Amino acid sequence: MNKLNDNQLLKQYSYINGSWHSSETEFAVVNPATGELLINVSNAGVIETELAVKSAKSALKAWSSKSAAERAVLLRNWFNLMMEHQDDLARILTLEQGKPLAEAKGEIAYGASFIEWFAEEGKRVYGDTIPAPSGDKRIVIIKQPVGVVASITPWNFPNAMIARKAAAALAAGCTFVGRPATQTPLSALAMAELAERAGIPGGVFNIVVGEDAKGMGKVLTEHPDVAKFTFTGSTAVGKQLIAQCATSVKKVSMELGGNAPFIVFDDADIDAAVQGALVSKYRNAGQTCVCTNRIFVQKDIAQAFTDKFVAAVAQFKIGNGVEEGVVIGPMIAKNAVDDVDKLVLDSVKAGAKVLLGGVRSPAGDNFYQPTVLTQVTNDMPVAANEIFGPITPIITFETEQEVIDMANATEYGLASYFYARDIGRIWRVAEGLEYGMVGINEGLISNAAAPFGGVKQSGSGREGSKYGLDDYLEIKYLCMGGLS
Ligand code: NAP
Repeated sequence: MNKLNDNQLLKQYSYINGSWHSSETEFAVVNPATGELLINVSNAGVIETELAVKSAKSALKAWSSKSAAERAVLLRNWFNLMMEHQDDLARILTLEQGKPLAEAKGEIAYGASFIEWFAEEGKRVYGDTIPAPSGDKRIVIIKQPVGVVASITPWNFPNAMIARKAAAALAAGCTFVGRPATQTPLSALAMAELAERAGIPGGVFNIVVGEDAKGMGKVLTEHPDVAKFTFTGSTAVGKQLIAQCATSVKKVSMELGGNAPFIVFDDADIDAAVQGALVSKYRNAGQTCVCTNRIFVQKDIAQAFTDKFVAAVAQFKIGNGVEEGVVIGPMIAKNAVDDVDKLVLDSVKAGAKVLLGGVRSPAGDNFYQPTVLTQVTNDMPVAANEIFGPITPIITFETEQEVIDMANATEYGLASYFYARDIGRIWRVAEGLEYGMVGINEGLISNAAAPFGGVKQSGSGREGSKYGLDDYLEIKYLCMGGLS
């Protein structure tokens, strides 16, 4: 951490109502690449979370009363500060999360881009007029901020998952309480420091950091002053949190797990497909919700694709994300390595063949070798489960309908990808895939202008784009009568 240009970005306390709050106990934030202690952080809990909700509620009236243009100026300041401090924010992110520095810098720019986007999009919250059923009435629709927004986010994108939610919430005129994952609180706290410098008033953006996920989660999902709850994380936890939100009928949006198919048809540009699969699969050591989980390759080109793909993966440099040229960093923790190792071993027992890797890495306890498996079937553990690690199962197929059916045979429906050139096939497959997002001849699909989100058990709601504001707005119908 001593290499930061601005040491004030390294914070140890929760940020509530515009000030830094210490708590009685602390918890350790550890570098997943080395196991070294980075810093001890004050351990907030239920009381601090309730205080943050109260602060967000108190700040709501003044914030929602500002014009969208006034809020945009402050959001724009925040965006500028994030980009100005991109190197420091990326360094903090890599140290607490593990991803290579270049990827961390990319995440900061990606997170900041949502702040820039929503600063502008907040100015375009249009209402509507509707022809009334009788001449003495007028029907007018206005949109208003939902109120206090609470969020819980995971460790895999410690900056961007918060930015995607907070930017839309604040632009819409809502106030915000965020609880980042226990393993990665520092990126969220650095964002709070920059929000303060940007001039965002106290109480509008609050971050509570602490180990008591359940207790803090209960406050954020059940408190009567929270109007909307937004979650990014696993489907299993998301289901519990939806149930908790039901007790007070909160507006809810969920960005949950995925099991992305990546389909390569025999008319595809094989080199482009290999490149697309590499970026989609191995970013963040395979720990993203939109990571390719299963590659399907049409039989006639399976050998050619697999040879090129394996040759490219074999070149990856594994190591500490702060080192030059590292492509695969550590996984978040030892139990994550155990989980992927078990998926590989169980799939090999079921008949899969290891072409590359398939073992833990000598780089350290939290590292796993980039792995490619062939002779995989769609029911093997490595294909049926969300892998969340640097493992690629390759499945061969013969017909278009067969692969669409296999791709859809999962409870998830977040991202999907396919490579083909035939225009008829492109439309048939794009429409046939039961996913919220489809990359067509493209492996990197997420950006602030596009609606990110899933169907089926991958969640509800959208983040980014003109649709992303809707999750933070209520529609109000004004019926004006007695006009004749
Ligand atoms: P997770 O276990 O669901 O944890 C996510 C967050 O929920 C963390 O902040 C965690 O806190 C908190 N949490 C866990 N149990 C809780 C409870 N009972 N009550 C309240 N909060 C609770 O997920 P993960 O394994 O860290 O993250 C990976 C998952 O996120 C994957 O399934 C991935 O696909 C999904 N994800 C989805 C998207 C998307 O946009 N769709 C994006 C990124 C990740 P602690 O850290 O304290 O445990």
